Amino acid sequence: MKPDNNKLNVQKFSLYANAYLIDGTVLIDTGIDPREIAGYDLELIILTHCHFDHTCATSEIAEMTGAKIAIHEEDARLLGDDCATASALFGKRAPEINPDILLYGGEIFESDNFVLEVIHTPGHTPGGICLYESETRSLFSGDTIFPGGGIGRCDLGGDLSDLIHSIELLTTLDPEVLYPGHLGVTDAGVPSQIGSSLAHARELVA
Ligand SMILES: [Zn+2]
Ligand SMILES: [Zn+2]
Repeated sequence: MKPDNNKLNVQKFSLYANAYLIDGTVLIDTGIDPREIAGYDLELIILTHCHFDHTCATSEIAEMTGAKIAIHEEDARLLGDDCATASALFGKRAPEINPDILLYGGEIFESDNFVLEVIHTPGHTPGGICLYESETRSLFSGDTIFPGGGIGRCDLGGDLSDLIHSIELLTTLDPEVLYPGHLGVTDAGVPSQIGSSLAHARELVA
């Protein structure tokens, strides 16, 4: 059964990056103070990609709550690498994370209140993902796109042509709300914001 108002129950936390707690049970990214999650009945942590600012509290939160950790297989391989995880940029070592679930794209995580689909969106990192909840048309974009036509940087082991292809894929969705990995949540003409991201990425092709 869906919630009456047909809105996804999402709480936003932010320290290094945005993290979104869905229905109190699924956490998307963990760049937060782990104490903020204490007391929740967390079942699953889904990492949008391997970067430090999205993953730093993962193991602590998983230990505290018993939640399983899911990440795309191509970013799982990079988890121990100080540079590929951008940890060195933050003056840190790569956090030690042992994923329980490897993603490849197309997986569905569902409960009574949501159906979250994994979309593989390489470009910012090889194993970057977005998550789409089609009932409420909610798109969790990690660092693939940002509001106002922003895009994730490709100079940390990413690839611009992959990113363009990934954003093209996002333009086939019709999201009402965008939950990005940085900056604010927006519901203002999201498909046209994605179109601006795509135009921006295409402009960068030499
Ligand atoms: Zn990133
Ligand atoms: Zn980030």
